[in-house]
Amino acid sequence: MVLILALVPGLALADNAVMQELGSKAAKTAMQDLKVEKGDANVLILTSAGHAIVDGRTTQAAIKGLTEESGNSIGDANLFHVLRPYWKPVWFYFFNKANGEAVFLQADSMALNKSLEEFKALSNDQVFSRISKANVDIDYLANHTDEGNETFNKKAFNGNEFSLAGISNVWARGGSFDFIQATCFHDHLCPGVTSGLFLAEYVEEKLPINNITAESYKVISCPNWCKDDLFQMRWDATPGKSGLFVMALTDAEKKAVPNIAGIYIRWNDTAKAGDALALGFNFSAVKLPQWTGPSWGSKLYQDIVLMDYVDKPETFINVIKEFDVDAAKLAMLQNAGMHPLKVAGVM
Ligand SMILES: [Zn+2]
Repeated sequence: MVLILALVPGLALADNAVMQELGSKAAKTAMQDLKVEKGDANVLILTSAGHAIVDGRTTQAAIKGLTEESGNSIGDANLFHVLRPYWKPVWFYFFNKANGEAVFLQADSMALNKSLEEFKALSNDQVFSRISKANVDIDYLANHTDEGNETFNKKAFNGNEFSLAGISNVWARGGSFDFIQATCFHDHLCPGVTSGLFLAEYVEEKLPINNITAESYKVISCPNWCKDDLFQMRWDATPGKSGLFVMALTDAEKKAVPNIAGIYIRWNDTAKAGDALALGFNFSAVKLPQWTGPSWGSKLYQDIVLMDYVDKPETFINVIKEFDVDAAKLAMLQNAGMHPLKVAGVM
């Protein structure tokens, strides 16, 4: 027993060394393929390392290998780990914003069972079950739809195409660190999570946090959509801490309160009182430029054109109702037996 316990930390170190080497190999291979040098500010790295767990071993050490080899880091806002369930594969994605080229590499879990010496000796084909390269820049794809068809319809990045292309296109066009980080938590960057950013900005303008000790935002998300993951990252409004309550609506209910995007409360926990806004979000409030190519491009394109409104979130938002909330009302809005839109008096 003592012997086993003594061995465990050593095993973990060996695992980490293999993972670190995996990250290093991924970076070396991708940088060669993209013809970029260490420290190139045009390069973005996205990875599932840190979330993926392979045969019981965590994968965060791969991030260390990536950083050492490429120079990219979270501090430079050019390396992010994208949320995936732990049982999904560990992959690496390198994007060069200078030309839109991207390389995707997925680790072969078999290779990760080797000792460090054995692992170092493996060829790229043995380390990675997939290495693929594609141009994912939306402006390039608009003129090369045949290449886009190959990438998206044939799943060149093992099903991660939209997720990775969306995040990298917005990153390349100056998406802020906090927004990119929130989209990585959401798994992808879609118009839905962008609407979350706009709603958050709107609420912050109308109901600013004046007392950072007592005040916080609480969201009664009804109906739910991708927006809700942004509030968790930006406001720390998580369900576990009663910051976010999420309920779906039937189609008939959605029709009854057009564009309803939930109830947003600035809550003062000392005064046990808050200010609430029932907000609507109308994606069709303005006529956005339209993507005319194959369907895989439409949301990617919408991601880009929506960024023009990042300083004008009110374009899409309307106040359905403004009201005060006390502790009893807050409890009713959150309670499973109640209908929050009826409690709020908007339905
Ligand atoms: Zn989404």
